[in-house]
Amino acid sequence: MRYRQTPVQSAELLRLVLPRIAKHGGHYGPAAYSVWYEYLAGLNQPLNAELDKRLQEPDELAPPDIDKLYQQFVSGREQREAEQIQSGLSELLGKLANVAAASGQGTADYARTLEECERELASIGDAEGLQRVLKSLVQSTATAHSAAEKVQTELQASRTELQQLRDSVGNLQSEAQSDPLTGLLNRRGFERTVAELYAESGDGLGKAALLMTDIDHFKKVNDTYGHLIGDQVIKAAAQVLKSAIKGRDIVARFGGEEFVVLLPDTPAQGALALAEQIRTAFGRLRIRRQGSDELIAQVSISIGVATPLADESVEHAIDRADQALYRAKNEGRNCVRFADSAVAA
Ligand code: GH3
Ligand code: MG
Ligand code: MG
Repeated sequence: MRYRQTPVQSAELLRLVLPRIAKHGGHYGPAAYSVWYEYLAGLNQPLNAELDKRLQEPDELAPPDIDKLYQQFVSGREQREAEQIQSGLSELLGKLANVAAASGQGTADYARTLEECERELASIGDAEGLQRVLKSLVQSTATAHSAAEKVQTELQASRTELQQLRDSVGNLQSEAQSDPLTGLLNRRGFERTVAELYAESGDGLGKAALLMTDIDHFKKVNDTYGHLIGDQVIKAAAQVLKSAIKGRDIVARFGGEEFVVLLPDTPAQGALALAEQIRTAFGRLRIRRQGSDELIAQVSISIGVATPLADESVEHAIDRADQALYRAKNEGRNCVRFADSAVAA
């Protein structure tokens, strides 16, 4: 699901969204609400980039501008792209059918001319007649040749077009499953990858461990240094996580400044050690403003770890890791907490 903020976070976002709507035309509709909510929660990178650019411009941002942003970046973007690809594909199939029909017709015409020539040759007695037959033979061979060349060129163009469509489908698929800011999987990609992993292994979650991580006091980073520095911190966090995992381990950005790590084959001790390693590496991060030596205040991360039972669902294990994370936050942040065991059903 796209919106995964807790009720407290949503309330906080609402508090931030309302003044934005008021400032830019006071049109309190769902479009304005979605645009500002996604913007402030940082859920939609292309929207943030466009809106940031737009906010730099001198003229006022009005409700129609917000509606346009909503159409372009929020409502049904993936579906629109999929529809475009589909119509491109059916157009291409139409072209291929025409090429096939034309080439079939061309070949049939040529074969008929050859037959006619053969018949005529049998009855020809003079050089003039021979000349006539040869002339028509040369002509129809040239026509057949250029038709064949045309077919070849059209087939080549169609192949290129098909390749492009295939790439677009591939991009659309991976775009829908990855997070543009960090390049990590998003929640949807995580769910898909986990499902594939378990379909392959058939092991369930018996030997797996789950880490839920959340940057501490991240709102303060945004408030103090701005959203762009906040984004940089999120990217750096993604790097720390990426370099901490290996092999079949999966890391994903779950939303905002929250990440999940699934270690398919790691006992509790190993998972706790890795979480500790991530926490320490995160504490060592030094983020500077671009082109300056000014150090941004140190950031820390809290981590909840759950080692799931064989018959536990991923969602359930995530819930337990989330509760452990919540405890880590309550017990001072910048620490790792282990979840209670799942109760077998
Ligand atoms: P806590 O220690 O309890 O986790 O405190 P926190 O301030 O990190 O609390 P919370 O998780 O509620 O705040 C997350 C903030 O992260 C809210 C939102 O504005 C911001 N945020 C979410 N996504 C992005 C993003 O993509 N970029 C930036 N810069 N900020 C984001
Ligand atoms: Mg946080
Ligand atoms: Mg959070």
